Amino acid sequence: MQTASGKSILERIAIGPLCVYKKAEVHISRTSALTSAQEWDRFEAARQTVRGQLERLYEKALDEAGGETAAIFEIHQMMLDDEDYLEAVRDIVKTGGTTAEYAVMEAGENFAAAFAAMDDAYMQARAVDVKDISGQVADALCGRRDSGLPEEQPVILVADDLTPSETVRMDKSKLLGFITRRGSFNSHTAILARTMNIPALVGVDFDDSWNGRTAVLDGCSGCVYVNPGPEFLSAMEERRDDECRRDALLQTLKGKPDVTLDGREVQVYANIGSAADVESVLRNDAQGIGLFRSEFLYLDAQDYPSEDRQFAVYKHVAEAMAGKKVIIRTLDIGADKQADYFGLDEEENPALGYRAIRICLTRREVFKTQLRAILRAGAFGTVSIMFPMIISLQEVRDAREILEECRTELREQGKATGVPEVGIMIETPAAVAIADELAGEVDFFSLGTNDLTQYTLAIDRQNAKLDAFYDPHHPAVLRMIRHTIEAGHRHGCWVGICGELGADLTLTETFLRMGVDELSVSPAAVLPLRKTIRGLDLKKD
Ligand code: PEP
Ligand code: MG
Repeated sequence: MQTASGKSILERIAIGPLCVYKKAEVHISRTSALTSAQEWDRFEAARQTVRGQLERLYEKALDEAGGETAAIFEIHQMMLDDEDYLEAVRDIVKTGGTTAEYAVMEAGENFAAAFAAMDDAYMQARAVDVKDISGQVADALCGRRDSGLPEEQPVILVADDLTPSETVRMDKSKLLGFITRRGSFNSHTAILARTMNIPALVGVDFDDSWNGRTAVLDGCSGCVYVNPGPEFLSAMEERRDDECRRDALLQTLKGKPDVTLDGREVQVYANIGSAADVESVLRNDAQGIGLFRSEFLYLDAQDYPSEDRQFAVYKHVAEAMAGKKVIIRTLDIGADKQADYFGLDEEENPALGYRAIRICLTRREVFKTQLRAILRAGAFGTVSIMFPMIISLQEVRDAREILEECRTELREQGKATGVPEVGIMIETPAAVAIADELAGEVDFFSLGTNDLTQYTLAIDRQNAKLDAFYDPHHPAVLRMIRHTIEAGHRHGCWVGICGELGADLTLTETFLRMGVDELSVSPAAVLPLRKTIRGLDLKKD
C-alpha cells in the first residue's frame, strides 16, 4: 500500500479506482496574420460565447450546490467584464501580430500572478478563477470543447489542478472524489467540492502510475491509500457505509425541528475544538455550537495567540454559523491540557489544581485578550461566552467584571461588540450545590458531565485503570444533573449538557423528562440524537 497526504477539503471517504486526468495539451500560436482589430473582434465573439457558458454553469451549480455556491460563476462573469482585465487583453492584442488566444492567456497569467502574490489567502485563491475564465475564452477561440470525465465507471479523479468550471461540468454520478496536486482550501473548486459533498484532497504529490489502481481517499486523515490491503479496505468500506447511512438519516431530518412526539422542543447543538470543525457541524445540521473548546487555539500555538488571531477564528466560526448560536468557552487550560509557554508548575493533583478560570482570574491580561476577541467576534453572529470550572459566586462576578471592563474599553475604542448571553459550566459538585445562587448571575448553565462525574465520584477521568469505576450513570451524577436543571429553571436560566453524557441515547429520555433545554454533542452524534428525540413521547409512562 502506498500512502500520500494532502489537505482535506471535506471529511468524507471515497473508495474506487483512480483516474489520472491529463488535460489535452493545446498549442496556442502567438503570431497572427490578422489585424489587431480583427483579433479583438475574435476575442469579443469568444467572450460572448463564454458568457453564455457561464450562465449555464451558474444554472447547473444552482441546481447541484445552491445559490451561495453558484455565485462563483457570477464572480467569473464579473471578472470577464472587468475593465482592467479587458484593458490588459486589449494592450497585448494592440501591440500587433499576436493572436487573441495568446493575448487572453498572457493577460490571465499576469492577473493570476498578481493575485497569487497578495497577502490574503482568499485573494490568492482567486488566481485560479482568472486562469479559469482565460482558459475558457482561449478554448472558445480555438474551438476546443471540454471533454468531461474520461471514464465510464465512477472514479476518484487525480489531476494537477481543477478549475471551478471543470468541477461543475463533471458528471457527479461518475465522480467519487478528487485529488489535486495544486489548489487550496479557499479555492472556488474546494468550495464547490464541499457544498456538493465530494470528498477531496488538495496538495497531494501523486504519481502517474496510480492510474487505474484502487484507492481510499480519507478526507478525515487527509491521506490517500493506494492499493490498500483487504483488511484495511474493508474497515474503510465500513466507515464509508456509515457515512452513507448518516447521509440518509440527514435527508430525513434536515431542517426539521428537534421536537418529541408530544411536542417538547429541545435544542441539539454540537461541540467543536477548532474552526475547521464547523464544516461537520453544518454538515450534520446542528442548530448551534454548544461548546467551542477554545483552549485548542492555545494548545496548537507556540506562544499566546494574539487578540487579532483569536478574533479571526471566532469571527470565522460566528459567520459560518450564520446567526445560529455559538457558545465559546473561555480558556480551559491546565490539568491534561498543557502548553509550555504558560510555564505552569508541575502539580501533585493537576485536575484539582491551577486550571481554567483559576488561571484566567489570576492572569488577567491573558484573559482580557481572549474576552476582547470574543466580544468583537460577537458583532458578526450570535456569540455567547461560557466560563469553565466555576466553584463560587465570586468567580462569576469577577469574570463578569473583567468582561465588562473589556466591553467598555472596546466601546471607547469604537470597536463593535455583541455578546448577548453569558453562562457557566456546571462541572464541579460545588457549582451544583450553589446552583440556585449561581443562576441569579448568568443566563445559562451547561453541564460538563465529564468533569462533574470525575469530581463527584472522585475518579480521575485520565486514569484508564479506573474506567470500570467511572460511571456517569451513577445516581449521584444524575441527581446533580436534575438539581442543576431545576435550580436553573427556578431562576430563569436555560440549562444544557455539553459533556459526553449528552450523547448517551439511553439517557436522552431521562434528560428530557428532567427538563433539559439543550444537548450539545460531537458533530457525528447530532443526527442519531435528533432521531431519538423525534421518536420519544414524554406523555407516555
Ligand atoms: C466536561 O467536563 O464535561 C466538558 C464538557 O469539558 P471538557 O471535557 O473539555 O473538560
Ligand atoms: Mg470540563
